[in-house]
Amino acid sequence: MKKIILSSFVLSFLLVGCSSNKNSTKESSPEKYLSEIKAENLSKHLYIVASDEMEGRDTGTPGQKKAGEYLINQYKANGISFPKGASAFYQPIPAEFFKKQFSPKLGDSENIWAFIEGTEKPDEILVISAHYDHVGMKNGEVYNGADDDGSGTVALLEIAAAFQKAKKEGNGPKRSILFLHVTGEEHGLHGSRFYAENPLFPIANTIANINIDMIGRRGYEKENNDNYVYVIGSDRLSSDLHRISEEANTKYIGMELDYKYNDLNDPNRFYYRSDHYNFAKKGIPAIFYFNGVHDDYHKPTDTPDKIDYPLLAKRTKLAFAVAWELANAVERPKVDKDGK
Ligand SMILES: [Zn+2]
Repeated sequence: MKKIILSSFVLSFLLVGCSSNKNSTKESSPEKYLSEIKAENLSKHLYIVASDEMEGRDTGTPGQKKAGEYLINQYKANGISFPKGASAFYQPIPAEFFKKQFSPKLGDSENIWAFIEGTEKPDEILVISAHYDHVGMKNGEVYNGADDDGSGTVALLEIAAAFQKAKKEGNGPKRSILFLHVTGEEHGLHGSRFYAENPLFPIANTIANINIDMIGRRGYEKENNDNYVYVIGSDRLSSDLHRISEEANTKYIGMELDYKYNDLNDPNRFYYRSDHYNFAKKGIPAIFYFNGVHDDYHKPTDTPDKIDYPLLAKRTKLAFAVAWELANAVERPKVDKDGK
């Protein structure tokens, strides 16, 4: 999650924050594959992705590239390739793209993508995104970014593995799914903006974006709640998307979906502060799953030992179930709202 900087104060003063379809056919149910998403796998991946060795995964650094290699190796091990039409797991982004007023100079970096082709409507694409960059190191201290956004990063690995297992058993998604690990989020949502401006698949064929950014912890207002997630953006462009998220949750998961931060007047403005926004800006229905901020947000103490793994697994299952319903529904979600 990206921090917002108050222009009147310099750097020292940061606002806290970061930031079924009813038509789907009967035989297509995610139920059988929900159990493929396991807390222990998420933990195994996260202890590596958010380890000190990755040096806080700042955009363009060797630590980030090492984390990226780990992700690619997981896809390869599961027999999942890069997308059709691409020549590698990387979407390279030149350093100039990251140039911004007051931003530090960043090196070349890469989005990372993996792909499961749809069986019936392969040209319609669901994008599931999470940013794999974090804020790096400061004064010799590693900012591990286990929750932000190591949690979303490893969720994508597990969701992809579950879809791949389903595909192997003849239950592959009808539409294609692009797993997009974006870079440069912490410096201004750059990786998702780059993708939205240089999409591998036409924007018009991109049916929705599910964005996962910080789902491994409990936020300030929810410290005693192990069964919630904040949902942001689901109803801004598409009533179908909102309904599908609600129905999949009711049917398969049963979490408390909290819409507090979806309020247009919420001062945190989280809707504008993670990668789904770059998809929404292009008119793509987008949904953002988020746990809220906590004491370790953007601190060196956002470490893997503080993650609530059963809760991370539960939220990952929700994202998987919603992705399943979107990918398999007879109709893609209609855009029937103005995005506000
Ligand atoms: Zn962040």
